[in-house]
Amino acid sequence: MIPHFQLRSIYSIGVNGNQYECKSLQSCYHYFVIKFVLAKGEECFFMKLRLGIDIDGTVTAPEAFVPYLNRSFNLNISLKDIKDYDLTKLLKISDEQFRMWMNEHEPTVYKNAPIAKYAKKVLDDWKDKHHLIYITARRKHLEELTFKWFKENKVAHHHIELVGSHNKLNAVKKHEINVFFEDNHDNAVMIAEELQIPVLLFNAPYNQNPVPKNVVRVNNWLEAKKWLDLHYIPNF
Ligand SMILES: [Mg+2]
Repeated sequence: MIPHFQLRSIYSIGVNGNQYECKSLQSCYHYFVIKFVLAKGEECFFMKLRLGIDIDGTVTAPEAFVPYLNRSFNLNISLKDIKDYDLTKLLKISDEQFRMWMNEHEPTVYKNAPIAKYAKKVLDDWKDKHHLIYITARRKHLEELTFKWFKENKVAHHHIELVGSHNKLNAVKKHEINVFFEDNHDNAVMIAEELQIPVLLFNAPYNQNPVPKNVVRVNNWLEAKKWLDLHYIPNF
C-alpha cells in the first residue's frame, strides 16, 4: 500500500510515480499518518484524507434561516435565540406546519444562503490536499440548486450527496470518511460513536449538549484547519 499523496517528506527521497517495496508498517500517528519503512530507506508519507462535510450551518452560515423565520412568523430573533435544532418549539408550531413551511421556503433559503466565515479560504486550501465529500440531509429535489450554489459561490468540492435524512451513517461509511464536519449535535455524536472517527462540531447555540471525546468543538473554519493541521502533521 503506497499512500497516494505526499504532503511533506521528512526522510528525504520522493516516490511519486515509483514503486517501492514496503518492508514494514512502522507506526500510525493519530488517525491519518502512516510511516512506512521502504526498501530504499525510511520515508514518511501523509495520507490524503477523505473529509465528510455537512452543508447547512457548517459551510453555509448558521444564521441563514433567521431572516426568513422573522419575516414569516413576525419575530425578531437572532441566532443566539435558537437554542434547539428543532425549531417547532421556538416557533410554537406543529411538526406538520414546520414541514409545510420548509417545503415552501427551503429552496429560497438555500439559494441565498451566505457562506460561513473562512469556509471558502480553508476549503480552497484543502481542495488539492484532501477529498472534499459533502454529505447533507437535504432532499434529492434540492440537488440542482445545491450544485448551483457551490458553483456560484466557487466552493471547492469533489462530491456532493443529498441523503434526505439526518441519518448519514451509511453515506459516511460508503465514502470511507476519515473526519466529519457537522453542526448538528445528534448527527455529530452518532457519527463519532458509531463509526469511531473524529467529528468537528461547529459551535452554535443549538448544539450545546455534552459530546463524547472524539467530537471536537470548533468555533469556525480556521479553528477546524488548525485542528486538522495539528493532528495531521506529526512532530517526529
Ligand atoms: Mg447542518
